Amino acid sequence: MNAFLQRLAEIYREIDKAYTASQAHYNFNCEGCADNCCVTKFHHHTIVEELYLAEGLKKLSPEKTGAVISRAEEVVKIHEASPEDIRVICPLNEDGLCIPYANRPMICRIHGLPYELFRNFKFETGDGCYRFITEKENTAKDFRINRTAFYLDIAQTEREVREKLNFTGRYKKTTAEMVLSIYGRGGQTDDESIVQIPQRSPDVMPTNKK
Ligand code: SF4
Repeated sequence: MNAFLQRLAEIYREIDKAYTASQAHYNFNCEGCADNCCVTKFHHHTIVEELYLAEGLKKLSPEKTGAVISRAEEVVKIHEASPEDIRVICPLNEDGLCIPYANRPMICRIHGLPYELFRNFKFETGDGCYRFITEKENTAKDFRINRTAFYLDIAQTEREVREKLNFTGRYKKTTAEMVLSIYGRGGQTDDESIVQIPQRSPDVMPTNKK
């Protein structure tokens, strides 16, 4: 499994590099943002990211682990009883900081800045988080992080991990559900969810820089 985690770490490094370059390009950072994205209910779709997160959580003390599990149980209860767009802080966020920062999932690394993505034979773009859109309303979105290669590389790694684990099910979890799954407290897999494995189409794949 180690080789897969190392490969994911390499993909994360590339994502972080692209994110830093984009931040510099737009002169944008998250400091002092009142709209914390750790309260957004994101779903994660790969087992390999859960395994990587588990590596980060291994380092926690028993007390901290207990606190994280309690918060995760609470968050799952709130999510189950609330509308889909309920905003509740991630159980891994403590005093505004991500506890397993180096092991956080992809969407936590890449969210917030303009992007482009080619998947399932469709080209899509995003204009960034609420703060970015508001502050940079009149700025040309001329540096879109190209997520295509990152998604493809993670999907390929995920495919191989699943083969290794002989796992053929579906995976869709919030960070709270991932935490409970890591600690053997359940965590839901959702039959409605589908792991998105995009088709590689190199001829039309856009690049990171324009
Ligand atoms: S894993 Fe970390 S960065 Fe991601 S939502 Fe939770 S606290 Fe925030």
